Amino acid sequence: MKTPAFPAFTVLLLSFSMLVPHAAGATASIPTEGESWDHSTITIQIMPASGQYWFNPSFTTDVSKAVQRWTESIIVFTDSYGFRYLRQLRYTIYVTGFNQTLNPDISISFVQSDPSFVGVTKFVYPTADNYFQTVTTQLATFDSSNTRQLTDVDMENVAMHEFGHALGLDHAVSPVTSDNFLELMFKDYGQAIGGPNNFVQEPSTLDLYALATIYSWLPGNAPATGLPRTLSLTLPPGIPYSVSVPYSAQITSYKATVDQLNLRVLVLAILVIVLFACAVALAIRSSRRKPPTLPTPQYPTQPSIEPGPVNTLAELHRSSDIRLCISLSPMSAIAW
Ligand SMILES: [Zn+2]
Repeated sequence: MKTPAFPAFTVLLLSFSMLVPHAAGATASIPTEGESWDHSTITIQIMPASGQYWFNPSFTTDVSKAVQRWTESIIVFTDSYGFRYLRQLRYTIYVTGFNQTLNPDISISFVQSDPSFVGVTKFVYPTADNYFQTVTTQLATFDSSNTRQLTDVDMENVAMHEFGHALGLDHAVSPVTSDNFLELMFKDYGQAIGGPNNFVQEPSTLDLYALATIYSWLPGNAPATGLPRTLSLTLPPGIPYSVSVPYSAQITSYKATVDQLNLRVLVLAILVIVLFACAVALAIRSSRRKPPTLPTPQYPTQPSIEPGPVNTLAELHRSSDIRLCISLSPMSAIAW
């Protein structure tokens, strides 16, 4: 075990939410703590506060996910910008109650709340060789007023931030990246604790570049001394100041976008079908409609051709007589 040359604790804490303005991150710089681990496989002991009413058992999983998230962001960063030796960093996680390691590099425990921090990381600084010995992290489960409990997303964010300290990062200067995302390593937590819509934050390219600088000894043997403290580490040309989103999160985001697009296409298709059906129905109805009633033509009045009343037999006879008289009349006239 190394003996600390300067037995003074350095405390790096993440304070409570201060809603920061989303201005472009003009100052992309971050100091380093001046220490790194001298081995690439780092052991982590998580100590859940099991049985405490203020402790959510899922917080243990959140811390594990936070560590994994760093690994995934490193993969994305090194795919784009090199420094692939960073992938040699490995983490072995132990959870008290399930498994145990005697001398973990990083010990993570929980407290109910603290008036001054939501997460705090302590280590001896600096040692003679600028290598970490042991690091302890405490994570609060409630805000400073002990009224709002952290969500799983909050816990994952805070654990990611503190793990950045445990790897050797100090606080980034800018609260936001150039692509307008919250800087994970900024000194204040940029979201309201307990917010139902809080989102998982990602390490920035600045954080990962600083990590690549701290662990530049990884390609070969560890140097005699670790990296001295760097007060202002900035990104080199060619690396934009942005977040490094893990591929799994990118796929989830793309899938959500595609699903939303599919939903819009489906709604549009349904709308087109409904409109088409309405048009067809209107066309059918129009084809079956009766022609308009034309006015009845007015014809000239014709004489009635209806037969007259039927005569009685006597009348018929009289009529014959009359007819006979008429027929004989000329002759009579002649005879007369
Ligand atoms: Zn911090």
